Amino acid sequence: MSKINRQGILDILDGYDKEDITIATLGSHSSLHMFHGAKAEGFKTAIVCEEGREVPYKRFNVVDEYIMVDKFSDIVNDDVQQQLVDMNSIVFPHGSFVAYAGLDNIETIFNVPMFGNRDILRWEAERDLERKLMTESGIRIPKKINNPNEIDSTVMVKFPGARGGRGYFVANSTDEFNEKIDAMLKRNWIEEEDIKEAHIEEYVLGCNYCIHYFFSGLKDEVELMGIDSRYESTIDGLVRVPAKDQLDIGADPSYVITGNHPVVMRESLLPQVFDIGDKITETAKELVKPGFNGPFCMQTLVNDDLEVVVFEMSARSDGGTNTFMNGSAYSYLYHGEPLSMGRRMAMEIKNGIKEDRLEEIIT
Ligand code: ADP
Repeated sequence: MSKINRQGILDILDGYDKEDITIATLGSHSSLHMFHGAKAEGFKTAIVCEEGREVPYKRFNVVDEYIMVDKFSDIVNDDVQQQLVDMNSIVFPHGSFVAYAGLDNIETIFNVPMFGNRDILRWEAERDLERKLMTESGIRIPKKINNPNEIDSTVMVKFPGARGGRGYFVANSTDEFNEKIDAMLKRNWIEEEDIKEAHIEEYVLGCNYCIHYFFSGLKDEVELMGIDSRYESTIDGLVRVPAKDQLDIGADPSYVITGNHPVVMRESLLPQVFDIGDKITETAKELVKPGFNGPFCMQTLVNDDLEVVVFEMSARSDGGTNTFMNGSAYSYLYHGEPLSMGRRMAMEIKNGIKEDRLEEIIT
């Protein structure tokens, strides 16, 4: 199937009444602050929501129009797209939107104007592309071990599609790698043909910081909007188990995200934080035009050499943005008032309209 025609999207945008734009997204993930922020900037809001999932949006009263669907993936259906276009909608993407709409569909059949670069979403989903972007940016990432026979220190082993870190494991030697692979085969967590797909990388011992950036295409600048740390089950529950019982109960910890804490970094690390943001956005401009646009997140671990090591990225609003719905320590510094990621996104749309440059930030 052919890719979305850019001119087609621009034509739809051209037909919109710019005085009457609706900000729309799927009701999940990080949509609350998107709706709230859009309303705060004077836009109408529309939700595409699965039956039974509408409670928070009604109770927090952040949505003007409800498009109720049987399942979230119906957001790509023609009738839903038509309703969105009829409302002059600009869609704000987030993790659940990408997961339910589907990358292929977003690239080929989802003909509703979106904020951000729809082509960059694939670069977070495919490990090789993600690694290429990070490597070419020259940012510090975990060292890759090409062959299990070369394991001579602690490594993290990952498999494609291992959501929530399920099936990830730690190994300290080639023997331990082989033992754990065998155990995973026995449990049917992986298949024989997955073994060659095992991605082995340096285990970074450190603290988790997920850094939320906003790239303003209009200002051509990266902003630091907030930082969170993950609260993951079962790994974070393990610390509440007495040491003598940890091996029995937690022999195979998982990293299923259940929530997030807001955090700040020591101030002397912030030059690294801006450097990472600047480098990755510059490289993305070359590799996947027009590059980042709007929210993105670099998931990092900071070791005791005070290196900020990036192990993963999100090329759209990340769930950790929910830690600063009423502003973060950093977003406050820009505007002197509480600023969420969603509101920052809405501000960009508003500025795009004001400066007559909306087409530069929509795909
Ligand atoms: P998923 O995207 O499937 O949730 P992640 O890539 O976010 O999985 O990894 C899950 C968790 O595994 C992270 O939160 C982090 O704690 C840990 N992790 C990932 N890579 C490394 C690494 N190289 N060293 C140490 N811990 C890691």
